[in-house]
Amino acid sequence: MEYRLTADYHTHTRYSHGKGTIEQNVIAARKRGLKRIAITDHGFNHIGIGMRLKDIDRMRREIDGLRKKYDDIEILFGIEANLISMEGDIDIPQEYIGVFDIILMGFHKAVMPFSFKDGWRLLLKNALCSAVPLCDRDRLRYDNTMAMIRAMERYPIHTITHPGAKIDIDTRLLAKHAVKYKVFLEINSSHGFMTEEYVRIAMEEGALFVINSDAHTPENVGNMARGLMIAQRAGVPPDRILNSQDFLY
Ligand SMILES: [Zn+2]
Ligand SMILES: [Zn+2]
Repeated sequence: MEYRLTADYHTHTRYSHGKGTIEQNVIAARKRGLKRIAITDHGFNHIGIGMRLKDIDRMRREIDGLRKKYDDIEILFGIEANLISMEGDIDIPQEYIGVFDIILMGFHKAVMPFSFKDGWRLLLKNALCSAVPLCDRDRLRYDNTMAMIRAMERYPIHTITHPGAKIDIDTRLLAKHAVKYKVFLEINSSHGFMTEEYVRIAMEEGALFVINSDAHTPENVGNMARGLMIAQRAGVPPDRILNSQDFLY
């Protein structure tokens, strides 16, 4: 299978815990010949590293300036939002939803939950369950998946980042709903635990994918070797990968 990727929809900068500036990421993407890049720093509730609401205007202006400076690449202002409740809340205040060109959403452990109860059910229970043998893992997996599905129902989410990483989910059920809500599932190139099996199961449900670098340094922007390898091994047709030149939808 031949894939020609033309975009990277998941990159971090110093506005969360990436190492480079927005411009350095853009330059790196151009060097790799990409036609589109999204700047997607971590959501506001990410403890210690999340984007700050007060930086939004500055980031938007910076990106607008870079769009004028580099007319050979499209730059999207995005965010990698966090799932913060069982009801599918994400960590973007409603009035800021429209600010972003693209909203990615994923599960991360170090976040401020929506409420104390969500902290227990979403964060602590998942952490404990991996250590406690008597835990009802099937129930937990189902609840986690439903929380993600509710987020897709409630917000204009473009992509679920690294599904199944850091939290147990029912891939088949998630993929079914991702198709329903036209949400892409990410094949992430940075997370070691992303498996071909997940991609195969999601593919059976008709899911569409996006391969991203999840770069935290400019050097890694557009480095999607691992994601490509997984897609290849799972036999994903290029026309089902959003950032492939052959994407048909
Ligand atoms: Zn992530
Ligand atoms: Zn990320």
